[in-house]
Amino acid sequence: MAFQLIDLPFSRTTLGRFMSPETLDFHHGRHHRAYVDKVNKALGDDARGSLGDVIRGAKERGHTGLFNNAAQIWNHNFFWRCLAAPEGQRPLGKLADMIADEFGSIDQLLAKLKEEAVGHFSNGWAWLVLDRGKLAITSLHDADTPVVHDGMKPLLTLDVWEHAYYIDYRNERPKFAESVLGNIVNWEFVAQNLDGEGIGRADQEMEATELADA
Ligand code: FE
Repeated sequence: MAFQLIDLPFSRTTLGRFMSPETLDFHHGRHHRAYVDKVNKALGDDARGSLGDVIRGAKERGHTGLFNNAAQIWNHNFFWRCLAAPEGQRPLGKLADMIADEFGSIDQLLAKLKEEAVGHFSNGWAWLVLDRGKLAITSLHDADTPVVHDGMKPLLTLDVWEHAYYIDYRNERPKFAESVLGNIVNWEFVAQNLDGEGIGRADQEMEATELADA
């Protein structure tokens, strides 16, 4: 059994100039795929279970390499679901109310999230999470993931590894953060995660591997 690289939940041209097909080819087709390949190689053909099980097991046993690669699969699975075509989408309903109550406005929330993303030293992920029923902004280093943080309920993430922006934005993380957060966030997905079930939405099961041609 092995993990498959999930398909992107949109076409490679959907995100337009905010995230180009070339970026997606590299970020999804090479970086994300490399994490999947490394986890499958580390686990071997007899492995069974879900991605969440592998991440938590690797953490418990101190298998850092396996943890990093498996956590990165999950982080990317979640990240892709956080993106959608630039159609002027904004948060609606309960999510919009929570944002207004806790940040004043969507623009203030986005400014804070951008600040977290830009201020995060080196590789990692900026997060909007639900923390004891309230919205909170935080970030995690390298491959670290909400999957192993008790009570951290993920709503939205931004990948701030350089591989996320070097093609479209060169070295300019602030421009990348502003463009993505301001134009291609899938607020419907973010709102869905208010149920606290976000971790399960980026999990996946191993699948039977195809027999190699004789
Ligand atoms: Fe990435």
